[in-house]
Amino acid sequence: MRILLIEDDEILIDALRQTLTSQHYVVDTVKDGRSGWDYAQSAEYDLILMDVGLPGLDGISLCQQLRSQGCSTPILLITARDATSDRIRGLDAGADDYLIKPLDLSELQARVRALLRRGTVPSSPVLQVGKLRLDPSTVQVSYGDQPLNLTPKEYSLLELFLRNPSRVFSRGQILQHLWTFDDPPLEESVKAHVKGLRQKLKAAGAADWIENVYGIGYRLKEGVGHQDPQETERSPLAPPASLLPPRPPSTEHQFNQAMEGLWTQYQGLIAQRLEALQKAATAIQAGKLTKPLRQEAGKAAHKLAGVLGMFEKEAGTLLAREMEQILLAPGMLLPEQEQRLLTLVQELTQLLNLAEMEASLPPEGAQLLLVDADPELQ
Ligand code: CA
Repeated sequence: MRILLIEDDEILIDALRQTLTSQHYVVDTVKDGRSGWDYAQSAEYDLILMDVGLPGLDGISLCQQLRSQGCSTPILLITARDATSDRIRGLDAGADDYLIKPLDLSELQARVRALLRRGTVPSSPVLQVGKLRLDPSTVQVSYGDQPLNLTPKEYSLLELFLRNPSRVFSRGQILQHLWTFDDPPLEESVKAHVKGLRQKLKAAGAADWIENVYGIGYRLKEGVGHQDPQETERSPLAPPASLLPPRPPSTEHQFNQAMEGLWTQYQGLIAQRLEALQKAATAIQAGKLTKPLRQEAGKAAHKLAGVLGMFEKEAGTLLAREMEQILLAPGMLLPEQEQRLLTLVQELTQLLNLAEMEASLPPEGAQLLLVDADPELQ
């Protein structure tokens, strides 16, 4: 499934790309509304994920423009916490759903899955044909008891076929759905990936499930899976799950590690934003807070509020949001507001230092997630 991401905050862009690619979606990214419009015109996206606050053309106007041109791709908006009116205007403009910053990334994944499910038959969260089972929430594929170890592209191909059971996809259409502009495939790529997928399906017991429609393309062969026995329970002769080959490392575990990497990678940028706030605090103490300094600090607070919660630093988001409200409000700052700002800057500084130590602790929960992902144990 191919997603267009329109977002201007670099930390958010990386975090969103990370979370979406961990689910095997392919993502094109643009940083302003006008490029978003151009991209949406030039490819067949399965979903558009966009921020409301964008340079050039804002998300709501872009949404309106897309809908008035007949674009029916699901649109998921990202809005700021306090902007209730943005959410209403966004939904009125034709957006399908919205998410509030700072983003809860597992919620984001769930909303994306829900939107991609719309219009697909059957609209069940797990895609299943006979004994073949693809679960988009765990990004795992199995045939009967046997897990299939697919590459991301093989997984995406299978997902595309399972979501559109009777449709024939030409190679061009497959390219449209599964590759981005940054990652243009070779002519033979689709063929090679289909071949890989077929081999793995065959090895698992699902031979000839992907049909070659001569001169047109590929599709899921009609009627496959029906000859499978109705009961899907394990026969007494089959080995218990504990004797099966180990599952590939949990996708969620890999993702958590990637997010920790992101946090480390962006410490510099976060420190810069914090510095803008510290500068404003110093200026307040000296009685010299200028308008540009105040504005810059306000913007920094806004950006911090948008991302800290995503790294499990919800307390930081709360502090940043309160600073943003004080700094970006019209009129002079009252003495008690200045005092409050100083306290908030101090608290945020402490919290982020503390957070650095937390981030270096080993990741937790991998075992738990593995158990959770196993349908046998649910
Ligand atoms: Ca923005």
